[in-house]
Amino acid sequence: MTAIAVLGSTNMDLVAYVARAPGRGETVTGREFRTVPGGKGANQAVAAARLGARTALLARVGDDDYGRLLLDSQATAGVDTAGVLVGGAPTGVALITVDPSGDNSIVVSQGANARLTPDDVRAAAGLLAAARVVSLQLEIPLETVAEVVRAAGAGFGGRPGPRVVLNPSPTAPLPTDVLAACDPLVVNEHEARFLLSDAPVGSSDDPEEWADALLSRGPRSVVVTLGAEGALVADGDRTVLVPSPAVTAVDTTGAGDAFTGALAWRLGVGDDLPTAVRFAVRVGAAAVTRAGAQASFPSAGEVAAL
Ligand code: ADP
Repeated sequence: MTAIAVLGSTNMDLVAYVARAPGRGETVTGREFRTVPGGKGANQAVAAARLGARTALLARVGDDDYGRLLLDSQATAGVDTAGVLVGGAPTGVALITVDPSGDNSIVVSQGANARLTPDDVRAAAGLLAAARVVSLQLEIPLETVAEVVRAAGAGFGGRPGPRVVLNPSPTAPLPTDVLAACDPLVVNEHEARFLLSDAPVGSSDDPEEWADALLSRGPRSVVVTLGAEGALVADGDRTVLVPSPAVTAVDTTGAGDAFTGALAWRLGVGDDLPTAVRFAVRVGAAAVTRAGAQASFPSAGEVAAL
């Protein structure tokens, strides 16, 4: 068994450090520029593998230089890349600006990520059957995510399928069956407000109200990440705030992915949800203390030392 399978996007991140992000129609002059591996799926897989998790990635890259670099970086982090498909479109890219406070703005060009299909999921049944947890995000087609949820719910040869963790980012309306499978649904403030935008609670400033309202929409559990404040866990029995360690934020790119990759791993090795979240907030906090996404993700030793 692998502790987790991550199914999602791999991008090459093109990162410019700027005094401030450009407004509409505006050009700003950047400072430093870096090309770094990213994509929410790839980020989560690297976060988990760097902590020591047995991790498999199911993704699609282009048959191009960026694709080869991305495969290399996954393998270097210790991710099993046998499930990464090659070709069909150019490798996805993300254009990112980071301002001096560490806040970021991102444009994703999906490329091969948009060609990861439900058929690819069906062909990867062995990979899913071998995982205790499958971690999903929305930088790939929603119908592909829905197929994973269906397969996980049906199980494999009489055995239950993997537990489903979903971070619905970038935001999109979620089908009822996808929502119902999440255990947990992991959202940040923006994603929580989006999913609740059809109800008065969407304009509340109380994250506990968001967590409870999201839970009533069907997921088995909900985690709301709150940046420096930590994360709220709602499992139906209670809603608990898990504070994050106080750190100096340098670059928040990928913090949510580090958090979710760590969370999925801890669930995969048998932690209960609050215990897994207590670990994941430390991983998220460590990740914001360094520049970049994957480059900022900590080892287990670094998390213990925080
Ligand atoms: P996202 O990156 O998706 O916007 P958050 O900003 O909520 O998500 O960050 C995810 C997690 O990373 C938080 O729950 C927290 O554990 C950690 N984190 C993020 N920003 C900080 C910060 N400034 N200080 C400490 N921890 C942070």
